[in-house]
Parts: sequence; structure tokens; C-alpha cells
Amino acid sequence: MLLDLRSDTVTRPTPEMLYAMMTAPLGDDVFGDDPTVKALEALAASRFSMEAGLFCASGTMTNQIALTVHVAAGDEVICDALSHIYLYEGGGLMANARASVRLLTGDRGRISAEQIEDAINNPADIHLPTTRLVSLENTMNKGGGCYYRLPEIAAIREVCERHGLILHLDGARVFNALVETGESPTEYGRHFDSISVCLSKGLGAPVGSVLLGTKPFIEKARRVRKRMGGGWRQAGLLAAAGIHALENHVERLKEDHRRARAIEAVLRPLPEVIDILPVETNIVIFQLAEGMKATEYVQQLKEKGILAAPFGKDKVRLVTHLDFTDQHLSMLNERMGQ
Ligand SMILES: *Cc1c(COP(=O)(O)O)cnc(C)c1O
Repeated sequence: MLLDLRSDTVTRPTPEMLYAMMTAPLGDDVFGDDPTVKALEALAASRFSMEAGLFCASGTMTNQIALTVHVAAGDEVICDALSHIYLYEGGGLMANARASVRLLTGDRGRISAEQIEDAINNPADIHLPTTRLVSLENTMNKGGGCYYRLPEIAAIREVCERHGLILHLDGARVFNALVETGESPTEYGRHFDSISVCLSKGLGAPVGSVLLGTKPFIEKARRVRKRMGGGWRQAGLLAAAGIHALENHVERLKEDHRRARAIEAVLRPLPEVIDILPVETNIVIFQLAEGMKATEYVQQLKEKGILAAPFGKDKVRLVTHLDFTDQHLSMLNERMGQ
């Protein structure tokens, strides 16, 4: 039996989730009459005390729609150089939002209010692209799942307000951060102009992300989604899984975090592992000893029945999730331990 830790997207719907999907009332969401989609959008928005939500096929789509709505061609977006919106969205920041980008080097992908303020262009200087938007990622995937604290976010918000900048959150794994900090999602709703949340990561839904923001923002986002070919019909089938995930799979994320720390303890004594990024949530990124290649090591793990993701030349990523239980953890221990 393979232990699949390539990502927290590999989960299958639980029987309860499948039941919710099969029994969900459906409509045609392009006509705006799928009641389950509407219920999911309202539920997700209410969790963050935001006005409205838009259910989309992926987190890339919610991020890209947000950027496209917020930013005019040639405007500049500030984000960390490790950001998903920059590295992993197929160049969409340029192709969809047609934005210029200012990449910062933060602390494992987390950028500070001070760094942001220093990177804002003088709006009176016509040589420079107009700084329009700041995007934060929480938790930070490439930073090993580390997260921001609310006071840092509040300080960033303050800078954005002073300079008239929009603040977007790529919150693909925002609930992983929230269950660790105990902070309230409604505080996030106050600070961010838009939030993207993945339902298909740790929350265990098969497909989907929601974009949250004000009503006028979501109206524009709905048009952009349609333009991108993302209008969908009986999407309530998938939205039902998202509702089930939000109602049942948030608190349990702590278990994924506990198991990630247990994996860290298994890795620590291995001679081939020379460094592990601090494990704060469900992501474990480790560095291999000199001369070892990530792709080769991932192949060796596969032969032991463990699927991992190469993460750059000499780094490997493991992600815990809903389908990785304590029993699987002891199997991993046996397979890696020797
Ligand atoms: C997974 C992920 C996304 C969205 O990915 P999709 O596969 O398009 O759903 C966005 N941001 C981060 C940080 C992610 O990890």
C-alpha cells in the first residue's frame, strides 16, 4: 500500500461527504439557481464575515480572478518571490492580470510591513509602474507551511491603507494557520480585500476553491470567471462537498499538524537529511545531503512505498492530510526508519 504524501490534494471524499454530494439539491449555477452553490458561497463568506463568495474550480482560478479584477494592465503587484501566484500559476499574473511584479524575499516567504512599504513605487514618478496590490500567502507553501500572526497582518493592512493598496490573501491553507493560532477568520475578513480558500487541500473536498470579498468585487469576479470558461452548471454536486468540508474538516487539521511533526521526528536522525524547515502545520520540507538529487531520493522513497514531491533540486516535500492516519504514520516510521 502506497503512502501518498505528495500533497494534501490527494484525498478521496469520505462516505459522509459522498452522501452529502449525492443528496444535494442542484440547479444551474450559470443561471444563478444552484441552491447548494449559493449555500457554500454564503457559508464561506460568513466564516470570514465577508459580504460574498464565488465558488471556482481551483485555487489558481480564484487567485487569478482576484488579481484580474483588482489590477489594471501595467500595475505592480508586491509578493514574496516564493509565492504560488508568481511561481505556480503558469504565468497567469502576467497573462491574466497583465501585472508587473515586485518580488520580495521574506522570512520563509512571509513578508513584513516594512519590506512592503519600502517596495512601494512613488505614484508621482511616471517611470515606475503603479503599485496596486499586495498579496500574502498563508500558510506559506514554499516556506514549509509557516504562517503569519494577526498583528503582522494588521501592520501590513495599515501600510496598504496608508498607500491606497489592495490586500489579497492566497489562503489556500488558511484554516491550517487558523487552527494553530486560534485566531478568528472574521479578523482576516476585516484586513483583506479578497481571500482565496482551497476546499480541495487539507479540507478534503475533491474539487474547488472559494473567492471572498465585497459584493461589487464578487460581481466582477463572476464575470471574469465566465470569461475564463469557469461558469459551471450543476456545480452544487461539488459545492456540497465543500460545505461538508467546512463543517466537519476544519478542527481536525490539528491532527495533520501533529502527524507532520511526528514525520519530522522520523526524518531528523536520517543521515541523508541535513535540514528540515521548522514544521508549523501540515507541510514537511527537508534538504538532502550534499550531492543527493531530490528526484532520485523521491524514487527511492517510492520503492519503499512512500510518495513524496521533489521540491527543487535538493529538497523534498511531504504533506499530511485527511487520508493519512496514525496507522499510516507507523507504516511510514517502519519504512523510513531503517
Ligand atoms: C494549491 C495552492 C493554490 C491553488 O492551487 P490549485 O491546484 O489551482 O487549486 C494556491 N496557492 C497555494 C499556496 C497553494 O498551495
